[in-house]
Amino acid sequence: MDFNDSPEEAKFRKEVNDWLSINATPKGKSKDSATLSEEDALKVAKSWQTKLYDNGWACLHWPKEYGGRDSTPIERVIWGQEASNYKLPAGFFEIGQGMAGPVLMMYASEEQKKKYLPPMAKGEEIWCQLFSEPGAGSDLAGLKTKSVLDGDMWTINGQKIWTSGAHYSDYGILVTRSDPTAQKHKGLTYFFLDMKSPGVEVRPIKQISGGANFNEVYFTDVKIPDDQRLGGVGDGWKVALTTLMNERLAVGDASGPDFNEIFNLACKNDLNGDLAIKDGSVRDKLADWYCQYSGLKYTKYRNISALSRGETPGPQASITKIVSGNKLQEIANFGMDVMDAAGIVRPDSFEEEQAMYQMGFFGAAGIRIAGGTDEILRNIISEQVLGLPQDMRADKGIPFNKIPTSNK
Ligand SMILES: Cc1cc2nc3c(=O)[nH]c(=O)nc-3n(C[C@H](O)[C@H](O)[C@H](O)COP(=O)(O)OP(=O)(O)OC[C@H]3O[C@@H](n4cnc5c(N)ncnc54)[C@H](O)[C@@H]3O)c2cc1C
Repeated sequence: MDFNDSPEEAKFRKEVNDWLSINATPKGKSKDSATLSEEDALKVAKSWQTKLYDNGWACLHWPKEYGGRDSTPIERVIWGQEASNYKLPAGFFEIGQGMAGPVLMMYASEEQKKKYLPPMAKGEEIWCQLFSEPGAGSDLAGLKTKSVLDGDMWTINGQKIWTSGAHYSDYGILVTRSDPTAQKHKGLTYFFLDMKSPGVEVRPIKQISGGANFNEVYFTDVKIPDDQRLGGVGDGWKVALTTLMNERLAVGDASGPDFNEIFNLACKNDLNGDLAIKDGSVRDKLADWYCQYSGLKYTKYRNISALSRGETPGPQASITKIVSGNKLQEIANFGMDVMDAAGIVRPDSFEEEQAMYQMGFFGAAGIRIAGGTDEILRNIISEQVLGLPQDMRADKGIPFNKIPTSNK
């Protein structure tokens, strides 16, 4: 593989850089966004997304008619590489643009795509993912939220949990159990819904970081028209798998301090009376992180090459998520240690660099759980990439309502 830009790619890279250098702030040049409340951060993110959209830089790989740019996968990579040098708002649109958008593109009607995708690309409307339940996370197909069809209207009852951003979302993608007498993976049906529908109640969950970014969501006799079903009745598992594969690609790149940041920190902070970079054990860790950083870069190129051949994201996307989540946690922990007393938890308005390590420290554990825990990803890699024997599935082939449980 030749990693140098072709003349067209170099031209595109220059175009990206010319635009970003006028419209965005390079990393390390401002101290402001870590101090914003969620409400203000949302306003800033929406206005940035609208600017991207108006200038043709939103959802690069989506078709133009749905608000994208018809970019090639490589152009998308170039944008990501250049944008990573700038301090850009993030965190509000990933679920919509990274998961709901691709699923709507595959399963929604043309009319629905034209109605919902452009406002999603523009950042006007935010989407959330209503999958996990108190008894169904890793074992998502064990979910119990009920959907019952009457005429052309479905009635939904049940509870979801850990729903990121439900409190500011306009729409959600939802998996339900439509047939409890079918086998676990076969009685599921997938929908999208308006989060303002009567009967939807969102209750925030307070987190260790002080924020309340995810929620419990209760459904009491919520009505969803049948034309908001994505995929066939009973085919919800297939649609959910597409979403999860896109989720692993979307969250694969854990944001936070990475090799360059921790290297710079080690070059300027003391450890045991001398610069940390001079300590053999620190150099050892840095070498490991550099290998992971480089390995991820080339694994991502491999994923992008597969995408450019028209393949859908496969189980190998799990590798990126598992390595980047663990790397972030180790780097953030070590950064807090190296900063010593200066790394002690304090309001994140104090200093941009400390805020970055602190937020990485609090957030990394969640990244290792969200969108598939480390153990589940290892199972996927061992079974679907390496072809090792399958995990024990005691409920295989049994109708869902006959699976023994303490909580029916
Ligand atoms: C920050 C964050 C944001 C999230 N956002 C969303 C969201 O927006 N929407 C949504 O639907 N969900 C969301 N989730 C939920 C997330 O998808 C689940 O937490 C995750 O799938 C794990 O499920 P669980 O919490 O029920 O843990 P469990 O599935 O109960 O797992 C508990 C432990 O058992 C291990 N385990 C389970 N099964 C196996 C097995 N077969 N082999 C080996 N080990 C196993 C797990 O690895 C884990 O360590 C979010 C979670 C986090 C942390």
